[in-house]
Amino acid sequence: MSLKKNLYIIIVGCGRLGSYIANSLSGSGHGVVVIDKEESALNLLSAEYSGFRITGDAAEFNVLQQVKMDKADVVIATTQEDNLNLMIAQIAKSFFHVPKVMARVFDPKREKIYRDFDIATICPTTFAGDLFLESIILYFKTKVEGSPS
Ligand code: AMP
Repeated sequence: MSLKKNLYIIIVGCGRLGSYIANSLSGSGHGVVVIDKEESALNLLSAEYSGFRITGDAAEFNVLQQVKMDKADVVIATTQEDNLNLMIAQIAKSFFHVPKVMARVFDPKREKIYRDFDIATICPTTFAGDLFLESIILYFKTKVEGSPS
């Protein structure tokens, strides 16, 4: 089995999250493409960003074909709409057979649906919630017990 050294990564949505991931991956040697339906969103990419940028509606199949989703190793759906992210992730998985598909999902109740489709999810809601809870516990321990551990 030959192992590819560089991945082809498609990021759908170039807002606060997508641009953060794209900017972080830039310079990593991986091939990165970012899609956003708003041209202005692409301005969030840093001057150092060396990947491709596409203005287009990722809900349109031809846009997914245009970015050669069939060649992708990784697809990350980061729009602000859970339903759209699920749809894109499903198409990536089932139609284009992308091996690694991930999606942002705000609604914790929807995570199970994604899991049933073998789509990895990050839920910013529970993620932030858990960090806040952890911080409260740490604060309580420091305050009441006098120890941060
Ligand atoms: P943010 O919530 O700041 O991470 O931004 C989400 C991004 O997803 C925004 O820049 C939106 O323009 C983008 N977005 C939403 N719907 C679509 C779509 N159908 N196709 C491409 N990008 C989209």
